[in-house]
Amino acid sequence: MSVLVVGTTALDSIKTPKAENPRLLGGSASHAAVAASFFAPTKLLGVVGGDFPTKYLRLYEGHGICLKGLERVPAGQTFHWSGEYEVNMNNRRTLDTVLGVIEHWSPKLPESYETTPYVLLANIAPPIQHRVLDQLKRPKFVVADTMDLWMNIMLPDLLRLLSRVDAFVLNESEAAQLTKEDNVFTAIRRIHRLGPRYVIIKKGSHGAVLSGPKGIFIAPAYPLRKVVDPTGAGDSFVGGMIGYLASTKGDLEKNLRRAIIHGTVTASFCCEGFGVVATTKTTRKAIDQRVKQLEALVRF
Ligand code: AMP
Repeated sequence: MSVLVVGTTALDSIKTPKAENPRLLGGSASHAAVAASFFAPTKLLGVVGGDFPTKYLRLYEGHGICLKGLERVPAGQTFHWSGEYEVNMNNRRTLDTVLGVIEHWSPKLPESYETTPYVLLANIAPPIQHRVLDQLKRPKFVVADTMDLWMNIMLPDLLRLLSRVDAFVLNESEAAQLTKEDNVFTAIRRIHRLGPRYVIIKKGSHGAVLSGPKGIFIAPAYPLRKVVDPTGAGDSFVGGMIGYLASTKGDLEKNLRRAIIHGTVTASFCCEGFGVVATTKTTRKAIDQRVKQLEALVRF
């Protein structure tokens, strides 16, 4: 079944201790859609300005991503984010965010998107996530992602969103911020009370935790020896996860556990290059190989 991904379609300028790369393809929706496309037909909903390079449109198309819902505003500027990593590659500082065409964007779903069964509301302003939900016809499974910024400036919209989605994904530090609770398992319980049946906590290089009606599932991260650029790892994780889930049948929670492992592995490829470069170079076969390796690492 197909997946709809809405989020930012961006140009990212990224600085690591070893290199600097300006205006790469980035954004939550770009990373997530590329990741999802390894597993299921993927539709992108986003907006770009006149400065968005044609080669990036070709890149989406090369992954079979449907662009019917990608609006182009020739007179506008594409969302631009720049960030800098510290030596440990875990801590990141946002240097600048230019909203550009996203600031006044009100998404309109093409008719062919309205009945998409699997939906990822990737990181973007919560009112945009709500507007997409308003236009969907009975989706099967909706996942929402977010970031600390929206908790700081649009908390009521975010809380209202939590009662409308099946699953909510956030970082460990964001979970602590939202619930004022440092213990991740207590934080999870509090987030369930806000609405979502499934809560997924991203712990970066320490993996992820899923909580659902059947209990807790703990997933390790794929052990990488070298991280080139972790930007978009969280988006690749959730994109790979929903893409894999859309390709499955049967018990949802069981499939969600396997989906988390596939998301984890897709994210590991993302970290091996700048922007989406390494993710776009991988294959379903290479992903499946790493899933097998990960399986062997945790069997006991
Ligand atoms: P991640 O590393 O998974 O947290 O995601 C990084 C991506 O998020 C980058 O490609 C950015 O373009 C995008 N991004 C940065 N700030 C925002 C924001 N305020 N809203 C949505 N996406 C953002």
